Amino acid sequence: MWYNRFHWRKGDVRQDRRESKKMENTRIDELLRAAEPLIELAIAEDIGPGDATSEATLPADGFLQGRIVAKETGVLAGLPVAKALFHRVEPALEFVAHATDGQEVVPGELVAEVSGPARGLLAAERTALNFLQRLSGIATLTRSFVDAVACSAAGVLDTRKTPPGYRVLDKYAVRVGGGQNHRMALYDMVLIKDNHVDAAGGILPAVELARAAHPELSIEVEVRTLDELRQALELDPPLDRILLDNMSPEQMREAVLLASDRVPLEASGGVTLDRAAEIAATGVDYLSVGALTHSVKALDLSMKIAKPGVRPDKTDPEARIASAKATLGKRLVILGHHYQRDEVLGFADFRGDSLKLARDASETTAEFIVLCGVHFMAETAAILARPGQHVLSPDPSAGCYLADSATPESVQGAWEHLPADEYTPITYVNSSARLKAFCGQHGGIVCTSGNAERAIRWALAQRPRVFFFPDQHLGRNTARRLGIAVEEMVLWDTRRPPDAEAIRRAKVILWPGACNVHQRFRPQQVQVLRQRLPGVRVVVHPECPMEVVDLADDVGSTAHIIAQVEAAPPGASWAIGTEARLVQRLQANHPRQQIMSLANVPPFCRTMSQITVQNLANLLDALVVDGRIANQVTVDAETARWARVALDRMLAL
Ligand code: SF4
Repeated sequence: MWYNRFHWRKGDVRQDRRESKKMENTRIDELLRAAEPLIELAIAEDIGPGDATSEATLPADGFLQGRIVAKETGVLAGLPVAKALFHRVEPALEFVAHATDGQEVVPGELVAEVSGPARGLLAAERTALNFLQRLSGIATLTRSFVDAVACSAAGVLDTRKTPPGYRVLDKYAVRVGGGQNHRMALYDMVLIKDNHVDAAGGILPAVELARAAHPELSIEVEVRTLDELRQALELDPPLDRILLDNMSPEQMREAVLLASDRVPLEASGGVTLDRAAEIAATGVDYLSVGALTHSVKALDLSMKIAKPGVRPDKTDPEARIASAKATLGKRLVILGHHYQRDEVLGFADFRGDSLKLARDASETTAEFIVLCGVHFMAETAAILARPGQHVLSPDPSAGCYLADSATPESVQGAWEHLPADEYTPITYVNSSARLKAFCGQHGGIVCTSGNAERAIRWALAQRPRVFFFPDQHLGRNTARRLGIAVEEMVLWDTRRPPDAEAIRRAKVILWPGACNVHQRFRPQQVQVLRQRLPGVRVVVHPECPMEVVDLADDVGSTAHIIAQVEAAPPGASWAIGTEARLVQRLQANHPRQQIMSLANVPPFCRTMSQITVQNLANLLDALVVDGRIANQVTVDAETARWARVALDRMLAL
């Protein structure tokens, strides 16, 4: 598992990482030990003396392959338990995981394959899925809470509200989702609640009694009012934590001021997903969420069984991709974006950012360009493609949160409010082909995160003001580097456009779009990291919020970040604010450097995850086996012509 900021301490990060890995292995052993009696119970309950249906209908030597597939988006947890259950029911079953605990999956994504004796596979299927679905449901809900409070330094805690026997499993799933465990049970921590306070005659005597009886345990006290909080804060030595029971956000804010960092505060009671961000913003240190384990909605996963008697192709789908590549030779080129999955990138002929990929492909003679990235990237490749080149996407529905935030209609609507002779439109390359064409038609330009500064300078040389879309953060960060004050920038509000005076005074108008990955980094993450790891170099992408960029040591495009790490000496220490897969790859490629994500739950690009080896193999099968072009991404000639105008202006910078 990735780093958890509350378990960090100063020192050698690689040592921390080794210890963290060791600790996680120990926790998996602990998980499997706790799962063992539950597995036995589940088998006794569900299979008992035998699976009557399978034994009646399947031959004793029958062989089956099952594929566990995600049917909704969520976070996986419990794969080791599912594997153990299959083996317990039928030791000859082979379980191959195609994902890991903690990974976000999207509908249709292959999670694991299980193959072997047919009767054993079908007998184990339901109970294995029951474990996997429950634990993944907990991890998914936890991740939603963790995401909701990402704007703060608050941690998300579980409770003891777990079904009998499931405590260790459920708490494991909470950690996998990015949450933290509160006490395991009544024996490992003292939590003095209102009943204990009343029985002992007050907070002070209750704490004294607990300290005398259990000096080795940490002590938390629940308070219902600010007066009780004051009493709890007077204790010397200070308490380990104070629980604020059912307080309003105003009371919590007051409590945070009163505690002034002397004792960590935990908000409890009525912590729902809707309220989580508001509660975290009060400054409390933890949010305690019983729902994580008591109101679990199982993640929808299912097992699809291959036809009886068909032996699985063990090398599928990788073998299908390799075979298609061999068959098509130079007629095919596969492009992989930096944020793509490793297993997909392994097949890429070119890696890079969207513009580099499109240019690389157009310089080849390939007839088929398969873009393993999101939709706007495939469009860019289609715009730059040469006649006769076809651009295909393994999943054309893989969009981009940022690009989708600015539709051509909404941008056109805003443009109509602006004096056209005053504003130059600039679109970030992460936008639709139609917006690029819009810029071409209106004397504007495209930019990348690497050349945005030059593009804004160029735009201001054409007309006195700039209309920048769709990424507000890239626009704001870049304009500030050029000396333009934040006060000279206007954030467009699509519901209430700024008045004519504000438009006339603005130097830069920013579209209110943001990347779903980079907007999740927070200044608190930089502050926490600097405290824990003095000397760490923080480098972030310019799609991150201004407050994060201000605290970073360096800011730059993906290519810039990679170049910085590649040029650094062994022992360099990095906290990187960009997509998780790229950071993981940098870690793997530079084991002698200390590299980590800036976020304790590193953000993945979910839409990029929609590209899998399965849909890549299917796309290539359509070409090679069926002789048909599937999932072609096209841009009409007029749009492509104007988009090229804007791109050519950028390339000429
Ligand atoms: S990382 Fe951000 S900008 Fe890139 S594809 Fe994903 S959501 Fe879009």
